[in-house]
Amino acid sequence: MEKRIDNYYEKKLVEKQQRLKSAIATLGKEEYLRTLLDEVDAALERVATGSYGICEECHEEIEEDRLLANPLLRFCLDHLSTDEQHALEEDIKLASQIQGALLPPRKMQLYGWDISYYYQPAGAVSGDFCDLVKNEDKRELFFFVGDVSGKGIAASMLMSNLHAIFRSIIDAGLSINELITRANRIFCESTLPESYATLVCGRAGSGGAIEIINAGHCLPILARKSELTSVESMGFPLGIFCVSQYTTRTFQLSPGETLLLYTDGLSECVNKANQEYGIERIHNVLRENEHVSPEELLHAYINDFQSFQEKQKQKDDLTIMVIRRME
Ligand SMILES: [Zn+2]
Repeated sequence: MEKRIDNYYEKKLVEKQQRLKSAIATLGKEEYLRTLLDEVDAALERVATGSYGICEECHEEIEEDRLLANPLLRFCLDHLSTDEQHALEEDIKLASQIQGALLPPRKMQLYGWDISYYYQPAGAVSGDFCDLVKNEDKRELFFFVGDVSGKGIAASMLMSNLHAIFRSIIDAGLSINELITRANRIFCESTLPESYATLVCGRAGSGGAIEIINAGHCLPILARKSELTSVESMGFPLGIFCVSQYTTRTFQLSPGETLLLYTDGLSECVNKANQEYGIERIHNVLRENEHVSPEELLHAYINDFQSFQEKQKQKDDLTIMVIRRME
């Protein structure tokens, strides 16, 4: 485990220790406070001796996302007691349900747009961010596809943080540039220094106009007739610098034209022969399914992705969103 991370835990533990001591001073020596303080003292002792974050059973590193959630852990996932294992399974099940409830409807047809998406976590929860928010007054839709750093529970917590940030500021009537600049600042101030998120954020207006900003994410693909182009634009991922600048790209979609967004769970997926799924294959599926509905296009991707994967377990979270201007 890196030194920088150790310092982080040490600081958190010292804070906990101080709080417990003052609680004991006010409330008296309640037994549970005493036990908790003993655990914190023991954890600080492990930091001092360099054994912090190491499983006491197998001497391997304890999973970082679990330590972040509970810095007092002494055992890795493989060496939990049956009770701990059971409690963990229940927590993950609940986290998965909460995350599922944050997702927008799978299909939306409004303001002249036909939008569908596919969202498949690699495990119980996902670090991919996907959202659709409508503005009824202006008859427009905001769309988001992103990917936060890390995996598992920790990544899913960052994803829900990002979801809450955008949902809380989206009604303020900001331009998408102001929206992403403000979201970046809040995300930056409310997460650990090593956390970040790549993201495409856009607005689809009722007359076919699209505004889009890319914060270090996979390039969206624009399909006009059979001509495919990547929508290039520069910007750092959210959370890297608290003050960051983004460029907005604006273009017009004619009826029948499509914008495709995805995460690297698609483009960077590697098969048994160690080949990447890649942009060319993404283009081919789009070309071969030029005239089908957004839902059918997603099915074509899922089928192609599954045959590419050859029954391997999915390693990364996967999101694909199809935005089509209706005829
Ligand atoms: Zn272990």
